[in-house]
Parts: sequence; C-alpha cells; structure tokens
Amino acid sequence: MDQKIYEIIKDLKTYLDYLKGLGIVTFPLSESGLQTMTRSEILTLGDVQKELGDCKRCKLHRTRRTIVFGEGNEKATLMLIGEGPGYDEDVQGRPFVGKAGQLLTKILQSINLPREEVYIANIIKCRPPQNRNPEPEEIQSCYPFLQKQIQAIRPKIICALGTFSAQTLLKTGTKITALRGKLYDLEGIKVIPTYHPAFLLRNPERKREVWEDMKKMAEWLGLNNRSI
Ligand code: URA
Repeated sequence: MDQKIYEIIKDLKTYLDYLKGLGIVTFPLSESGLQTMTRSEILTLGDVQKELGDCKRCKLHRTRRTIVFGEGNEKATLMLIGEGPGYDEDVQGRPFVGKAGQLLTKILQSINLPREEVYIANIIKCRPPQNRNPEPEEIQSCYPFLQKQIQAIRPKIICALGTFSAQTLLKTGTKITALRGKLYDLEGIKVIPTYHPAFLLRNPERKREVWEDMKKMAEWLGLNNRSI
C-alpha cells in the first residue's frame, strides 16, 4: 500500500481508538469549534464563567465543593492545562494549589515566568470522587467550556500537563512518553505536552525531561532574552 495512505489510515485508527476509549462509538463530534467560531461568538472569560454558572451538567456537581474554573492572565501567551481538580483545588476553588501545583509554580519560575502571567485550567472543572479519572460524559459536558476559555485567551502556546490533558486536547491515544517535548497544532495554537507535576513528584528522575521541554517552550515564547 502507498506509504502516505498507510500513514493516514494509521492516524485515523489512532483517533478512532481514542474515541472508543472515551466510550464514543458513533460520530457525534463536529469540529472542535475553536476555529469555527465567528468573532461575535467569542466570549470573554467572564462570559464563559457566567454561562457555566452553578453547573450541574454532569454528576460531579453532587460531590464537588467548588467549581475550579481556571485562573490567571486573560491575555496570557501561555496556557497550562491539567487534568482536573484534586482535594486542595476543590477546597480552594483554584487550579494547581496543592503539592503538584507548588511544583508547577516552581517549574514556571525556572523559566522566569511568574504564575500570574499565565493562565491555568483543567480538562474538567469539578473534582471526581477519590480523584478517579474523569468519565467520557463528564469530559463531554465540560470540554466545550475549556474550548471557549482557549478561544477567549487565544494563547500562543498551550502546555498540556500529563497524559489525560495531552490525549484529550490532541485527540489521540498515544502515550505521553511519545508525545512530550514535541510541538503539535490545535487549530492554529501550538501545543506542547509534558509530564504532569504530580507524576514528577512520584518520579523525580523525570524532571530533567520537563526541564528540556520548558527550555524549548521558553524559546518559543521568546522568554530567553527578557530580563525580569
Ligand atoms: N492536578 C490537576 O491536573 N489539576 C489541578 O488543578 C491539580 C492537580
């Protein structure tokens, strides 16, 4: 078979496997919506939060304490996207404020990027009980709001933190070890996946790879030449 056709079929299969993993066995998905929105449809973060309201679109509302909408600079050039709130985030209503969050703040400092300059969010906004993985219908009801946040911010780069975030954003089932450190495109926005800070807390020997990813990211963001 022609090599190009083979590659296309392989990519398509990876995508279909990813959908299957989410429990989607038919084709209900339209375009992700990032580029199909017209100017007048683009909301501000405030509008998105208002639309989200006291969300009860999935069952996580029954067990959550707070909705962790996301926080940071509305004009950020870098957006970091994690998986979902854990215990500390659920209590405080802010993303990445527990141990993994403290490490994330240090990682950002290592490339001279104060946390307040970036925008931090998660694939889902409510903590799953016992920090279990989010379920397909939970992602399906929550993800459109993240898309609207991305559209409102229009960052230059999205850093996908961990397997779950990278696979969801890039619609792939490929392992994070293969995805990390490479540059992908999400409808005009660059995406770089790297390991999740919580994974680094358990596997500190992998910090070196994240440091490599951060250096690349700093270069793409033009941070290397700035003095702070
Ligand atoms: N882990 C995540 O993925 N997100 C948070 O906000 C906190 C921990």
